[in-house]
Parts: sequence; C-alpha cells; structure tokens
Amino acid sequence: MIIHNDVYSDEHFVKKYTYMGNDLGAVWSKESTTFKIWAPLAKTVELALYRNGTFGVEDLLRKDGMKKGDQGVWTLKVEGDLNGIYYTYFVENDDEAAEVCDPYARTTGVNGKRAMVLNLASTNPTDWERDIPLEEPLKYTDAVLYELHIRDFSIDESSGVSEKNRGKYLAFTEEGTKTPNGTPTCLDYLTSLGITHLHLLPMYDYGSVDEEKLEEPQFNWGYDPVNYNVPEGSYSTDPFHGEVRVKEMKQMIKALHDRGIRVVMDVVYNHVYDADTFCFNKIVPGYFSRQNEDGSCSNGSYCGNDTASERPMVRKYIVDSVNYWADEYHMDGFRFDLVGLLDTETVNEIVNTVHKKHPNVIFYGEGWSLPTAMQDGYFPATQVHAAKTPDFAYFSDDIRDLLAGRNGEGEGFVSGKTDCEELVAKCFMAKTSWCPKPAQTVNYVSCHDNYTLMDKLRITRPEASFEKLVRMNKLAAAIYMTSFGIPFIHAGEELLRIKEENGRIVENSYNSSDSVNKIRWGQLDDKKYAEVMEYYKGLIKFRKDNRVLHFSTAKEVIENVTYQKLSDNVVLFKIKDELIIIFNASENRYQFDMGKYGIINGDWKICVNSMRADIEEEIGESCIEIPEISTMILKFSK
Ligand code: CA
Repeated sequence: MIIHNDVYSDEHFVKKYTYMGNDLGAVWSKESTTFKIWAPLAKTVELALYRNGTFGVEDLLRKDGMKKGDQGVWTLKVEGDLNGIYYTYFVENDDEAAEVCDPYARTTGVNGKRAMVLNLASTNPTDWERDIPLEEPLKYTDAVLYELHIRDFSIDESSGVSEKNRGKYLAFTEEGTKTPNGTPTCLDYLTSLGITHLHLLPMYDYGSVDEEKLEEPQFNWGYDPVNYNVPEGSYSTDPFHGEVRVKEMKQMIKALHDRGIRVVMDVVYNHVYDADTFCFNKIVPGYFSRQNEDGSCSNGSYCGNDTASERPMVRKYIVDSVNYWADEYHMDGFRFDLVGLLDTETVNEIVNTVHKKHPNVIFYGEGWSLPTAMQDGYFPATQVHAAKTPDFAYFSDDIRDLLAGRNGEGEGFVSGKTDCEELVAKCFMAKTSWCPKPAQTVNYVSCHDNYTLMDKLRITRPEASFEKLVRMNKLAAAIYMTSFGIPFIHAGEELLRIKEENGRIVENSYNSSDSVNKIRWGQLDDKKYAEVMEYYKGLIKFRKDNRVLHFSTAKEVIENVTYQKLSDNVVLFKIKDELIIIFNASENRYQFDMGKYGIINGDWKICVNSMRADIEEEIGESCIEIPEISTMILKFSK
C-alpha cells in the first residue's frame, strides 16, 4: 500500500476536501433521488442502478456518470420513485477502478454488496413516532446492562419461539413464549428479570456469515463490519430484500421498548472486516484505515487494520453513523468495541451530537491501551484518558479480574484469593487508578469474551462442589451489582452458563456452533438454575430500588460511603445511614456483632442474604451469622 498519511494529513487536502453536509448517500423522495458520494481523488464516478440486490446478477437498469462538485463530492439526481432500486458506484482512481457499495447505504441486498434506495418511513412499525421507552431522565448509573447475542437468544428449541423466527430479530417480538414445562422465556423473561438495557452484540451488516447460505450451520459474534449503517441480513427472515432487515430490526426495538427495555448497540468502528475491500477505502484509497510510517496497516485491533478516526472525513462518517442509529432506530446506547483505537475528539463529538437530541443515550466501551499509529496531537480513548471523555464509560477489568481472577492467573476474591480487601474497596467505590467517577465505570465479572463466569470458577477451583461454585457466582454478582458504577450482566450468567464442546470448555466461542453458544432455556425448569436466576432478579430490583447505589460522582461516594475490613476476606461498606453491605468471601462463617455498629433490632431489616436477594426480613439475634462465601445487606427501615 502507498503511504497516505502525508497526502491526507496535508493542510491543503483537509481544507479543500472536507465536506460537512448531511446529505451523503442516496436521499430519496417520491419524485427523485439524489446520490452523493465523497471521492476527492477519483477521476470518474458512475452510478449503476439494478433491479436486484444480488451482486453479479445481470440486471443493470442504467449507468450514468456523476458530476464532481466542491469538496470532492460527486452528485447525480435521478428522477422518479426509486424506492427499492439497488445501486452501486463505479469509482476510478489512479491505480484502480472498482464497483463498490455506498458507505452511506441505508440498506443492501444479500451480503451487503449492492446498496438499496429506501423510503425509510415505509419501514416504520405502527406507532413508531410515539416510541419513547421511558419518560424519566436516566443517569448512566441507573442502568442495568444485559449483554446478549441475537442468535443465542432464541435458537434453542426450548426458547419456545416459532421456528421461522428462531435466531432472528423477530424472536424479540414474540410474547408468551415458554419452555416445555411452561416457564416464560425470551421477551417475557427479559421483562421479568428487570434489566433496563439490553446490549446486543453486533447487528450492523457484518461479513463472517454468508447470508446466501443460511440453511447451513453458521455462527459468528459479528465483530467484522462490512456496512456500518445497515442491519445484518442473517438475522432477518429475508436477507435478499433490503427493506426486510430494516423493518424487522425496528420491530425488535419497538417490542423491547414497549416492555420498557432500552436497546444498546454494539458498534465496531475501530476496524473493518477487510481494509482492502472496504468500500470507503476503494472510493478514497486507504483513507479509512490508519497507516504505520512504512505504509503498512496499523494493527492495534489485531484484526488487520485500525480506523483512522483522526482524519476529518472518517470522524464525520462515524459521527454520522452513530447519530443515524440513534435517530432512525431509536437506539438507547452504544457499546464501542476497542474504543482505544479511536481518538478522544471523535468520541466526544459522537457523544455530544447524540446527547443534543437524545440526552438519555448511554455510551461505554473497551478502553484498553493498544499499539496503534494514531497521529501526534491526538489521544486514544482509553481508560487512562477517561477524564478527557467525561460522558463515556469504560469496562472495568479491575473489578472483573478482582472478582474471578485474571485470565489464566488463578483465583479472585470470590474464589479464594487473599489480601485483596483494599482492592475490593477501590472497585466498590469506583476509585480504581483510572476511574474519575462512578458514571464512567462498567462493573462486571464476565462477558462474551473469555470464559463464562461458571467456567472460570470451575477451572480455577476444580475441587469445589457445585454448591460452592454457585455461592461464588452469587457473591460476585452481589458485589458488582451493588458497586458504584454501571452493572453489566453477561446473558446466561444468571443461569450458570457454560460453553462446552465435546466435554471441553471453550474460551473463545466467536465462531463456535449453536450448541456451544445458545441460551438453554430449559434450565429454567430446573430448580438449581432457577434459584440463581431469582437471586440475580432480586439483586437487580434491589439495585433499582435503592437510589443511594446510583451515585454518579466521586464526591458523593467520598462523602457517603465508608469501608472497613472486618476480618480476612470479609469487608463492610456503609452507605449513609441507610445500607450496610457485608461481603464474606472467606470459607468460614462470620459472626457480625450488630451492637458494635449501633444497629438496633427493629430499625434494620435484612434485604439480601446468602440465599435470597430483595427480601425484607426482621433481624432475630443481636449477632448475625453470615455464612461462608456470601453477602449480607441490611437496610435502615424504621
Ligand atoms: Ca452480513
């Protein structure tokens, strides 16, 4: 690849070719459609219209040259109602000519090769304009996140979802689904669990599943973007007709909103499926992807390429894209994959432009530090720069590693590691080394990456009984669910989810089969799983009902929260005079002397204990016994 940094960073190039209009792509009206594409270095650009969305089908309707205007934008207005017509661009640059999809495509035909002109209003579900999930303002720390893969949700027969909708967007619209024994599943289950936000793994158009072969077994998480502004086709009931995926994704979101569940979209702007074939890079050679000094692709993503977010038209593209999903699909939040490959200016522009229109949208991402060739003068949006992105939260690997142990490095606090009481205090109070305030930390113990919590625990403590592993699981959940910040649940963690293939534990299941990844709803009929689920449900309700757990600022925490080590692996937190939270991670029962803490029988009630969460029980004795590996929460309720 040639060296582009010099060309694209050149002041004259930036000045001459930066276009800030909001009309790139195909803007449809009943009378005509106007096509605009940014291709500043192109010698010629032609627009091709097709009847079908399948690449290679010979059904060209017409092909017309486009006209180059200011800032490198090529334009063509085509008369007539083009809704449903497919199109591509033929772009000729110095070193090559290519037929490409539109980076601003609103939808595409199968596998995202041809864009489609779309009357977006025609894809709206009934009452879409009145689709406002929750009226009240929402703080980041009010959220309870639940991370789920669309296919995993319903692909198992025990989901009770109709066969045609299994693994699809529409599975989320089915009400009254049940396990064979009659336990509610899917949408009804999520509603009763009480989460505020459903975080869905990538659902923009990605490249690793062949949409033409959906009858064959295929699975992927989808961290390989092809079309950033188009829903993934394999989750629709018909990937060949562009309007279907748009309609069905909106129906999914509407159904969730109708249940009071907000939707978070997992977005992967940090790299593309293939830098060489990505349409933006074909249109403006190499512009989208960051280069090292020797001209090779920067590869901090370990996926072959990094996005050059500091280039003005890449930044604009990402800002436009996120705003489009928030405006058109009513998304309530965005989870940024490897956001440390983007610069802080881009992140702030995204957050601020979206918040102007949608103040309740939440933003968070993976702020790991990665080796990327970001231009001088820019800061990567990583944990250590969290203060530069005040309305963007980051996953806390501190609390994750503290609770269950760092990957491949043995125990965590809940599984027997000693001498970590101070770190428990730091994580609980959102005072980790990088974290400026509770609203900027996402607290979790497991996610789609790495082992599930149950797998991690059983690998770490192979000799432990099932009952003991469940205690560890529940203790971990109670800690991150009451810690200051934003709690995040990996789907199925509350069902002791494991990932196994032929008896072996799978650590990275990104392209494993359904049998490894699917949610096994039938487990709800088994008391040993249902009890854990009930515990999570209780913790969620307890968190939502107790506003003192929602402090957003470091100041509130400092002024209202005290910490004390009671014994080895036993810690106490007191929040105002309202809550006393004790985590006993030791293998021994702990006798808690209430009198010593001024707790008078009758004034305080037990809200969470080793067995159940969200209860209200009288305290019987002057000394409370806290069983090994468990939580005790007392609430002042005179
Ligand atoms: Ca796709």
